[in-house]
Amino acid sequence: MLKGKTALVTGSTSGIGLGIAKALAAQGANIVMNGFGDVEAPKAEIIAAGGSGIKVGYHGADMSKPAQIEEMMKYAASEFGRVDILVNNAGIQHVANVEDFPVEKWDAIIAINLSSAFHTTRLAMPAMKAANWGRIINVASAHGLVASAQKSAYVTSKHGIVGFTKSVALETATTGVTSNAICPGWVLTPLVQKQIDDRAAREGITVEQANKELLGEKEPSLQFTTPDELGALAVFFCSPAGNNVRGVAWNMDGGWVAQ
Ligand code: NAD
Repeated sequence: MLKGKTALVTGSTSGIGLGIAKALAAQGANIVMNGFGDVEAPKAEIIAAGGSGIKVGYHGADMSKPAQIEEMMKYAASEFGRVDILVNNAGIQHVANVEDFPVEKWDAIIAINLSSAFHTTRLAMPAMKAANWGRIINVASAHGLVASAQKSAYVTSKHGIVGFTKSVALETATTGVTSNAICPGWVLTPLVQKQIDDRAAREGITVEQANKELLGEKEPSLQFTTPDELGALAVFFCSPAGNNVRGVAWNMDGGWVAQ
């Protein structure tokens, strides 16, 4: 379905971004990877999902640095022609009461989780509009719709990206470009594993108990959402059935925000 299209997925060396990159590759899309850590193993997973017909590139831009984001977008345009599908996924978390929240962590969370999407979107948009086709998919969170304590920066960034998604959807409403957000509940990735491990250490309980507590607090389904399930939703947004889906913040969260 996406043969000949190029998807740039920020933060695709791990977790949800990798799941979305694999799902888009499986539909034939070329992939521009981004993110920190090992690149070769996730790249091999994407190639295995997409087969030998797809092209996979990588740019290691730090999403907190606008100049590096510009370099990444230039790399994508020169190596792949243009970005047809932009998945703004890179994100970080820090947990602390507002009075204890380190200023540099606040700035990093806003830069990586929110401002980076402004920069990638403003740079990808002219070519999408010229082609009259494009998909912007922002990975927000259930925390884009409701709050939790000790997560002021994260909740602010995720509410912000839901608003950004809607504004861009209105600006592109009469074009073939759409802008939508995905709002996952808990997904068992390194970002959440750290919160589970911290809780187990803090409360002197096992990781299994911490796991159960974490899910029980927020998710009526008592199940994690998987990167593959989120990838399937991203594929839907890219399908012809998604042509007129504009400005939604689609929660896939085991009932978290239904409560
Ligand atoms: P993860 O830690 O597995 O992956 C994060 C990715 O972002 C990695 O590839 C990492 O290298 C990259 N990254 C981090 N900082 C970066 C930077 N400065 N520049 C470039 N890349 C950077 O986490 P994840 O759980 O897969 O999170 C992905 C997105 O999903 C985030 O936006 C997160 O807020 C969101 N999310 C996660 C959950 C969850 O339960 N895991 C729930 C809702 C939303």
